Amino acid sequence: MAEAENFIQAFIDEDLAAGKISAVKTRFPPEPNGYLHIGHAKSMFVNFGTAEKYGGTCNLFFDDTNPSKEKTEYVDAIRRDIEWLGYRWEKEVYASDFFDIIYDDAEKLIEAGKAFVCDLSAEEIKATRGTLTEPGTESPYRNRTPEENLRLFREMRAGKYADGEKCLRAKIDMASPNINLRDPVIYRILRAEHHRTGNKWCIYPMYDYAHPICDYLQGVTHSLCTLEFEDHRPLYDWVGINLGFSPKPRQIEFARLNLTNLVMSKRYLKKLVEEKTVHGWDDPRMPTLAGLRARGIPAEAIKDFCARIGVAKAQSECEIGYFEAVVRDWLNLHAPRAMAVTAPLKLTIVNYEGEEDVDFEINQLDETAGTRKVKFGKTLWIEQADFSLDPPPKYHRLKLGGYARLKNAYIVRADEAVTDENGNVTEVKCTYIPESRSGNDTSGIKAKGVLHWVNAAACVDAELRQYDHLLRDADYAGQDFSERIRADSEHIFAAKAEPYLAENEGSYQLMRTGYYRAFREGEKLVLSEIVSLKDNFNK
Ligand code: ATP
Ligand code: MG
Repeated sequence: MAEAENFIQAFIDEDLAAGKISAVKTRFPPEPNGYLHIGHAKSMFVNFGTAEKYGGTCNLFFDDTNPSKEKTEYVDAIRRDIEWLGYRWEKEVYASDFFDIIYDDAEKLIEAGKAFVCDLSAEEIKATRGTLTEPGTESPYRNRTPEENLRLFREMRAGKYADGEKCLRAKIDMASPNINLRDPVIYRILRAEHHRTGNKWCIYPMYDYAHPICDYLQGVTHSLCTLEFEDHRPLYDWVGINLGFSPKPRQIEFARLNLTNLVMSKRYLKKLVEEKTVHGWDDPRMPTLAGLRARGIPAEAIKDFCARIGVAKAQSECEIGYFEAVVRDWLNLHAPRAMAVTAPLKLTIVNYEGEEDVDFEINQLDETAGTRKVKFGKTLWIEQADFSLDPPPKYHRLKLGGYARLKNAYIVRADEAVTDENGNVTEVKCTYIPESRSGNDTSGIKAKGVLHWVNAAACVDAELRQYDHLLRDADYAGQDFSERIRADSEHIFAAKAEPYLAENEGSYQLMRTGYYRAFREGEKLVLSEIVSLKDNFNK
């Protein structure tokens, strides 16, 4: 057996060695109450990845025990996002598939004297739960007979009582140091239409009670979840033991992924969508998988990130810069190169006529990528920042009388700058050196600067979009989330681009500009920033 890569695998190796299990089965358990985010990508990496490592399988398990917040729209989005990441689930399962069994199991607990119907209100239950230092108080309904409990529970199911009028509680220990074991509620009355079972039920099981049953019924061997469930594990085990599960699934907790400058809770993400701070769940600033996809971040880069951060038990916060560095590394290796000009300045080559194709290397780091042809011509767009009338020392871009190379084409000399009434340069007139063609340069001229360009006679207008992080920096950390939100985090500019980008949607390195996703919105070409070109991680 390969060596364990993390503590979860070490536990599994232990269970296999002891003969407790013979194959590994996991599940990824989203609640369909919102879109998946990058934290869920880590959970999938752990759940699907662990199963795969042991030649086992992983189910997609929808935890739909909370009908008031769940929707089919979310179920569809979740499926799409998992498929996009490239994971394959064995079965698609819903907690609601098991509602009958979960109900029957509750009757079994009642018959065994392990559960009772309680008439206290939610507030009263909370008030009698005790504290970390003091035990709770037993409910006056705790000693009802199994027969009475069974009758009342059946009446609850039949709709005899109002929402909240009664509930079913596990009978465990009001003095337990673990508050989760102080007679937790396991069924509540709730009249809400369920997205799958409609109005069949007016009582719904609580997550802590339903989850171990659902795991067991699916044959899950290891129920991998985040640390906040650690204190719930004794209850998870209590359910398994009292319902006689064999082999009992083993719950193992790991640390959540937290990223700086990002909101990661579905509740807040939903708020951003509802208050229209962002354009939707798939806004490129959102940490949702749909947002990351819209941003142009490849699924492979996300998985690579999950692999690199690893699985640990200790809570930590990961720098967003680290995530971006992983994305940048991935795109640097895989993204094709292209040219676009973000703040266009006209460049005219006075001594050039006609047009020609020049070779453009698609990705110099990928030997298999090859080249493509780009049309070069007399009138080009270059960046305003690549020409200066008043250059600082050691300026390698274009200045009057100076030389620079136009990427993959020729060396030009700037001869004249045309300015408007305000002194702004509107056009640079140049002379090109015919012997300086890239790949066959016999000119002997040294041009240190290499400029990207777009052929004015063969280009398309593009809308360039750049983004700031949705949450302000660490200086603001600790402040309320709504104060840290950066509402004006989308910036739009007019750009000029190669027609190639309009014809080939995808994620690109725009030379000297950054990594961008190119796509069409109707007729319009949009260039949307993925990550900057240079690493500013640890700056
Ligand atoms: P949120 O707080 O964002 O609503 P959640 O935990 O309620 O998240 P679920 O749909 O219940 O969302 O999550 C499905 C699985 O993904 C759970 O096992 C949960 O522990 C895990 N998960 C959620 N967020 C993260 C995260 N940031 N890092 C790792 N795993 C996560
Ligand atoms: Mg949850």
